[in-house]
Amino acid sequence: MKIRTKLMIFFSVIYILIILAFGRIFYLNLIKIFTGSLEGKIGQMMDSIEKELNKHGISNKEELMELLNRGTQGEFAFRKDAGDYFWVGFYTKELEYLTSTNLARKFPLDLKTIDMKKKVQIVTFENVPNNHALFHSDSEGRVYALVNKKLIRAGGFHFYLVVLLPVTSERHGLKRLGKTTLLSFATLLIIVIISGLLFIAYTLKPIKNIVANLGSISKDDLSQRLKVHNKNDEIGELTLSINNLFERLEMSFEHERQFITDLSHEFKTPLSILRLTIENILNSPTLGDNEAEKLGPTLETLYSMDFLVQKLLYLSRLEQDKCPFNPQKTDLCKTLDKVFENLGLLAESKGLEFRKHYKEKELFLEGDPALLYMAFYNIVENALKYTDRGSVLILAGIKKHCLEITIEDTGMGISPEKLPLIFDKFYREDSSRSEKKGYGIGLSIVKRIIYLHKGKIDAESIPGVKTKFNIILPLCR
Ligand code: ADP
Repeated sequence: MKIRTKLMIFFSVIYILIILAFGRIFYLNLIKIFTGSLEGKIGQMMDSIEKELNKHGISNKEELMELLNRGTQGEFAFRKDAGDYFWVGFYTKELEYLTSTNLARKFPLDLKTIDMKKKVQIVTFENVPNNHALFHSDSEGRVYALVNKKLIRAGGFHFYLVVLLPVTSERHGLKRLGKTTLLSFATLLIIVIISGLLFIAYTLKPIKNIVANLGSISKDDLSQRLKVHNKNDEIGELTLSINNLFERLEMSFEHERQFITDLSHEFKTPLSILRLTIENILNSPTLGDNEAEKLGPTLETLYSMDFLVQKLLYLSRLEQDKCPFNPQKTDLCKTLDKVFENLGLLAESKGLEFRKHYKEKELFLEGDPALLYMAFYNIVENALKYTDRGSVLILAGIKKHCLEITIEDTGMGISPEKLPLIFDKFYREDSSRSEKKGYGIGLSIVKRIIYLHKGKIDAESIPGVKTKFNIILPLCR
């Protein structure tokens, strides 16, 4: 998982937890404030009713009933002004209905259905018409009310005083407030997540740049360095360390290159002297057949070593940009024709089908004909060398405003894990091919030459079936 995703998940979870915790605390406190004020209101009503009851000194049920029935239209004397606006009810200790205000009669409450242990609780009245001054129902015909009850002890007579306060609109208001709070927190969360994402992307952008730049630095050009934006932050320190590493790598590569060049130079003269000496001995008329047979393979080895030294020196010059490069308008068809001609004998000797096909009559590019010849000779020679039966085909044409050259053979192929290594210096596939004799330098030279012409080369292969080298070169019109 990417660091960016991990950071995002971590911060989102933290933000969600914080917002949930705060949201919950905020909402619960809101409910507390609301219910607290309503409970206070209902408590006050209970207290004033109780006070009036006490004023009349009730000591039994009859006295209570007589007091309660005294008012007009069955209203209490002390609540004559109450009319339809107060829900007050009286119940026996056994929770049987005694009497109540008009409103309580219209909307009766069975005390046995409510939890008597709770001091204050909410009850619901269903199917209430929405035309009552106090009992406002919601869109579903429901009225929510807060119930408070108290056991009154009047002498030996005990009864319940129950007061009910409709809270439908308050409940709705609270619900709406809850929804708004939730929406605000959700919006806040989205803002926090988006700004977090942007911030993380901004913070990690230099790392992304480093990765992109590192990808563009090839092992053939270690002179490139990463840009340091801020030396003092961690990313700046990392960039400096990477640049340091490149410095050391470049130096060690340079040492290796220099060592190979020096060594090749050292070998060049003694090898030439040895070769000339043996050639002279072999040309001597006094030399016996026996001695000539012994010296023959030695001379062959010397030729091969001389060839290797020459190639190494050539590669070093290419790598150090010291190789003469004379670009001119060149017809690639002619270069490929020359390669085809000069390798025709090898193909014939191996009994291979050797063909060439150009989609255009002329394929011009700005290049050095000698270098291009060397590169294509190498690739085609390899194709013939590593193919024992079948064919080798040279194809050339124009594709997407570039020259595309393909050299395809039906040879032994290259295993997928070895394929990325074939352009490396001294790379040769395993010993089973050692009889094919090579030093693993040819393709390194080819790659350098193609890069010198601002082109690209890659290879694809199916082991035992075929190998294809694709070369793209800039076209010149
Ligand atoms: P060499 O002189 O050994 O041929 P090269 O640099 O030209 O060196 O090639 C490197 C290696 O790539 C070879 O040793 C061989 O294993 C592999 N190779 C190159 N061309 C082909 C090909 N057409 N078919 C199979 N293997 C190839």
